Amino acid sequence: MACPLTAAECFRKYVTARLPVAERGKGWWSMRCPVGRHGPPLRFHAGDKVHISYADLGHCPESEIFAWLVKQGVPGECLKRPKDRPGGKPQFGSEDGKLADAILDVAFGDGTSTERLIRATVLALGGEMPEGPMVDVLAANLGVKPRIIYKATEELRRKGRG
Ligand SMILES: [Zn+2]
Ligand SMILES: [Zn+2]
Repeated sequence: MACPLTAAECFRKYVTARLPVAERGKGWWSMRCPVGRHGPPLRFHAGDKVHISYADLGHCPESEIFAWLVKQGVPGECLKRPKDRPGGKPQFGSEDGKLADAILDVAFGDGTSTERLIRATVLALGGEMPEGPMVDVLAANLGVKPRIIYKATEELRRKGRG
């Protein structure tokens, strides 16, 4: 790492001071996605593995987001590597990769940490929405009430139907 700053300093210098971002709380900052035309925002977070990580909730290719950020003067070495980087070695088969993406999306998405944990767990189980006794099993293992499971998976249920 050639960047001499800490992640927090680097994030302040290149993201909060330069980009039209608004603070969203819990260390997340967001702005309109610069490369796509969609409602969900592009989010930023100071990372532990990289100085600046980002998640486009509108699902634009990460390489496009990465390229745009580098054009704004953000050092590429400080940014999360795009998963679709040409020439990058895929770590997963494409089906596993899709699952990993879906899980990451919910892990970085909206909701309380419990809700996100439940959604990620449901996806890891193969995306089958838990019903009946399975809800009780999940609830017991995750230490939450069954209604929390239903609430957390509401959106996934809707998507599954649509
Ligand atoms: Zn986008
Ligand atoms: Zn940096």
